[in-house]
Amino acid sequence: MPNSAAINPFETAKQQIDIVADLIDINDGVREVLKHPKRELTVNFPVRMDDGSYRVYTGYRVQYNMARGPTKGGIRYHPQVTLDEVRALAAWMTWKCAVVDIPYGGAKGGVVCDPKHLSRDELERLTRRFASEIAPIIGPEMDIPAPDVYTDSQTMAWIMDTYSMLKGYSVPGVVTGKPISLGGSEGRGEATGRGCAYVIREAAKDAGVKVKGGTVAVQGFGNAGSVAANILYDEQGAKIVAVSDSKGGIWKADGLNPHAVEQHKQKTGSVVGFPGTKAISNDEILEAKADILVPAALENQLTKKNADKVQAKIVAEAANGPTLPEADTILYQKKIHVLPDVLANAGGVTVSYFEWAQDIQGYFWGLEEVNSRLERTMVRSYNDVHKIATEKGVHNRTAAYVLAIQRVVDATRMRGFYP
Ligand code: NAD
Repeated sequence: MPNSAAINPFETAKQQIDIVADLIDINDGVREVLKHPKRELTVNFPVRMDDGSYRVYTGYRVQYNMARGPTKGGIRYHPQVTLDEVRALAAWMTWKCAVVDIPYGGAKGGVVCDPKHLSRDELERLTRRFASEIAPIIGPEMDIPAPDVYTDSQTMAWIMDTYSMLKGYSVPGVVTGKPISLGGSEGRGEATGRGCAYVIREAAKDAGVKVKGGTVAVQGFGNAGSVAANILYDEQGAKIVAVSDSKGGIWKADGLNPHAVEQHKQKTGSVVGFPGTKAISNDEILEAKADILVPAALENQLTKKNADKVQAKIVAEAANGPTLPEADTILYQKKIHVLPDVLANAGGVTVSYFEWAQDIQGYFWGLEEVNSRLERTMVRSYNDVHKIATEKGVHNRTAAYVLAIQRVVDATRMRGFYP
């Protein structure tokens, strides 16, 4: 899912739909439906700045497809947010929810702003006003936002409160990624990395890789990457030989303790300089000698320039869009098992779904129950994708799209076209 400035991400998303629609022979009006967002809302709204002046901000909410249920997807705050980017991200959320077979369609939202230059009070006012602008089209039965780039559990708490004020009663199920004190779920914080580790464990069996004692390199030691490393180390006995963050990477042939690296990063702001390690660059980590590579930072990391140099046997995309299509083909030819983002990082949206299910029941589960349901979902989804990849002779990304798009198509056909 490339997202560089030169490429219009929504054009990419539509091309992906065409490729899969050709493969599974969807030639009627359903193909056109798949290539159009169902509902889009653009809002321009004023926010009072701390100095008393007013600024008008633009925000979007796109509900891409709701054939399988209410729509789900994050809200990002970023200066470069565009409507086409939000459309593409909403389409990808549709496929991600369908891959793991949770009863959701896909959505996404964004506000064009630079949160680094806004105070906490300004961010709160912006969030509350944006929430009230999109309130007519969100809700637990319609569309459930979540955090994304530069939004977090506090942002979700403000949205939940604003929506609840408008309704006159508390509606925790309107957003996920909330603090536990407001109806958030146990295990949500580590769900993406944990889900990724489960998928790696399953794929390793098919790829002939031993995770126990096997070597792992993680690009991007943040939320998703550090949790994946911890779980592979703690629960599966893997050797974490390299990790990196935006400041650079570290390598240790006989393995790092990821918890100790985390503490070092908390103290110093980076993994770099962890005692007993060799410094490596963020480009080198992608080509590192390791059985498993986990890109968990940014998009567009694996390209036609470096894909040929990847030594890992499994590439698990904890990040969204780390592999360009040109690199996909090279990795497939090299028989590397790529676990695509719509599968490998779907643990996050899966536990978001659990959060929503707990909120609307008003009944909360313990951490063990959350994790075991997550494990079941990830194992089943990996097997579903792998089966299609084997049967159709396609790589896992195409297989995941086939699975997802077929599920959306089936729901659309069963419902039929209204009126
Ligand atoms: P995060 O901010 O916690 O971590 C990102 C990490 O990447 C940080 O350690 C940062 O230093 C590092 N980084 C930034 N630029 C880098 C660079 N050029 N090279 C190497 N490292 C760099 O973010 P996160 O939540 O872990 O998200 C990471 C990726 O995972 C994103 O693509 C995100 O979309 C995806 N993802 C996250 C979740 C989730 O629940 N957190 C869910 C689905 C997908």
